[in-house]
Amino acid sequence: MIKREACDKWFSDVVREKANYTCEHCKKTDSRMECAHIYGRRLKSVRWSLDNAVCLCHWCHRDFTENPLKFVEWLNQYFGEGHMEILREKQRAIFKATPEIKKEIAKHYREELKAMGENEGYEPRSYN
Ligand SMILES: [Zn+2]
Repeated sequence: MIKREACDKWFSDVVREKANYTCEHCKKTDSRMECAHIYGRRLKSVRWSLDNAVCLCHWCHRDFTENPLKFVEWLNQYFGEGHMEILREKQRAIFKATPEIKKEIAKHYREELKAMGENEGYEPRSYN
């Protein structure tokens, strides 16, 4: 088992909570929900950006991972091509994820999750 960092854990919790633990693709709720990145986690520039992640059930996540063109087609439809264009620009940025920054990201998403739990309809803010 790979040890998950706090910044990734809180980010994933916010992405899934934001979607009400419902798969954004098939709308099911009765499966394990996962935080799926559009641009992979290797790209630190958007690894903790809310506009680069969707909540998917385990099955849709696996299907999209195996069929990336299908994923892109769905994303263009779901978010619109404007969103995808902004993301394409954003992922190019250099982002240095130092331990201090990761700590700050973890704190940011921990607080956003708390705010979501306390206020119905609270829209979480993205770290970047
Ligand atoms: Zn699904």
